[in-house]
Formats: sequence, structure tokens, C-alpha cells
Amino acid sequence: MSDIHYVDGWPQPYAQLDAEPYWAALQERRLTYQRCKACSQAVWPAHSFCPHCGADANQLEWQESSGRGTVYSYSTVMRGPAPSWAAIAPYTVGFIHMDEGYYLFSQINGKPEDVQIGKPVRAQFLQRGKQILPVFDMVGFKPMNIQPE
Ligand SMILES: [Zn+2]
Repeated sequence: MSDIHYVDGWPQPYAQLDAEPYWAALQERRLTYQRCKACSQAVWPAHSFCPHCGADANQLEWQESSGRGTVYSYSTVMRGPAPSWAAIAPYTVGFIHMDEGYYLFSQINGKPEDVQIGKPVRAQFLQRGKQILPVFDMVGFKPMNIQPE
């Protein structure tokens, strides 16, 4: 955690081996997750076995998410931890309860007063450094400018 790699001012994610297909799909602007063929449960974060039933990696398959979900929890950050984040503060992060049944931690794009638990959100994709990342828009609200000037 102490060796953070920045590209164009953005901290780059550390791609663990189990999650490499997730990061590769994002580069094609596709949001993916794992599902267990043995118990049918969505699996996230990426695993090398099913945390629900213990099935091995052969039972886990990558599926494409609809990119839709609802806000499960959130927090608004008033001071960014790096210049790139400070440039877009205040911004909101939180857990999205995805329609496929898993929880994804991400940025939620919207005025802080518009973000509410249970409200629908939809993924968009943003280039941040070398990596394309999912950021969620509040459905029905005008998006804010979430790219630094
Ligand atoms: Zn399972």
C-alpha cells in the first residue's frame, strides 16, 4: 500500500491476480464480475474460489454487469488525498448494490445533496491515468464535471 503508482496525477489500481480479467475488461469499457456456476451467487471482489459455497476456480465465470444498481452507502470527501482528487472535491464514494447482487465500491457522480441511499445509479467509464475506471451517475440527475480542469 505504501508504493502508490501515479499516472497523470491519478493513483493507479493495484491489480491482484484474481482480478486481472476485471481490469482488462474495463479497458474495453465493460464492467464484469464473477458468478459461481455451482451455487449461482455473484462473487465480488474477485476470488480464486467461491466464498459462498467453497467451489473451486473452475466454477467461477466472468460475466458482464448491466452497470446498474442502487446506492447502498456513501461518503462525501471534502479534501482529496492527491492533487487529482483535490481538483474534483467535493466528490462522493460508496458501495453500489449492483442489480446482479454484488456490492461494488466506486465513485458516485452527483451533487452531494442528490446522492441518497436506495437511489438508482448507472456506470459510466472514465480514463484515469492508464486505467479506465467505472464511475456511477445518479439516474435522473444532471452529471457534474468529474474530470479535473
Ligand atoms: Zn458458489
